Amino acid sequence: MNLLNLVPPEAERYLTEWLAARNEPRFRLRQILPRLWQRPVVNWGEATELPLELRESLDQEAPLPRLECTQRQVSNDGTVKMLWKLSDGLAVESVWIPEGSRTTLCISSQAGCAYGCVFCATGRMGFQRHLACWEIASQVREMMLDPKFGKPSNVVFMGMGEPLHNWDAVDTTLTILNDPNGFRIGARHITVSTVGLIPGLKQLAARPEQFRLAVSLHSAISERRAALVPVERRYPLPDLQAVLSGFARRVTLEYVMIQEVNDRKEDAAALVDLASRLYALVNLLPLHPGGHDLEPSPPRNIARFAQELRRAGINVSVRKSRGLDISAACGQLEANTDHEQRSVCSDQ
Ligand code: SF4
Repeated sequence: MNLLNLVPPEAERYLTEWLAARNEPRFRLRQILPRLWQRPVVNWGEATELPLELRESLDQEAPLPRLECTQRQVSNDGTVKMLWKLSDGLAVESVWIPEGSRTTLCISSQAGCAYGCVFCATGRMGFQRHLACWEIASQVREMMLDPKFGKPSNVVFMGMGEPLHNWDAVDTTLTILNDPNGFRIGARHITVSTVGLIPGLKQLAARPEQFRLAVSLHSAISERRAALVPVERRYPLPDLQAVLSGFARRVTLEYVMIQEVNDRKEDAAALVDLASRLYALVNLLPLHPGGHDLEPSPPRNIARFAQELRRAGINVSVRKSRGLDISAACGQLEANTDHEQRSVCSDQ
């Protein structure tokens, strides 16, 4: 049994029956359950509040799987990128981003990605496989097991993969992240980022929690968007807009600034039109280097573009790059297991 693949109420039910079958007192549940997500242990042997025999049975019947950290790179801005090797040899990355008193963990939901956005290194890898729920949630769990890190204040699904393409596992992971018996991270501190898969958006919208939603827009003009984000041909802007209009929460539109592709006056006008219809926030992101022949918009173009949006009453932020020197910034994750500069995790 892999308890880390269950939502906390299911884990509770399983453990209640498991304890009853062994004639163990019910209070053991309150000792075991927090060791899954709230005060995680590397293995059951570490849960010394439990009798030795019970720890051994748990290790045999419900062992706790781990992600193996094979590489950790530290940026000079404090961002840390982890490479996790999966049991089948594939690899994914997470990025730890300290921001004053807050920390954000950017997690992966798939190895590779099927959607091929032209500026994205993960997209160029192609799709390898969906991550299981425990492999997604354990990116948080592993940080908590390391005394140098701990529990992040925010979690964003902006690492490798398209989270709504792996909805079943992401759906369960969202519960584990937010549940009082899970990691207990507030829904407003959890962001799902998508290219705009409409079936998955409908499923996310049906959840009652206030999870945040970010949509990778990159152009509000359909033909231009299709050249950057191929999924536009399948789920075009008018359909996307219709689904987002029904969203009960405020949406953030992510917009990578590319010189003479999406940073012109008409691009700003189209974005103003869409963002104002959706009451959306806009994040303008610098384009990061790697594997494409696009030019980033110069800072003065970004400032002018932001000004045009602000003048039209749109709430806009210009984001700074983080972890650029270790290829940990947006669009740069590709789980390269072949870097020369290799810093093996201290706890391995
Ligand atoms: S931006 Fe997201 S959806 Fe697009 S290719 Fe990269 S990981 Fe996939």
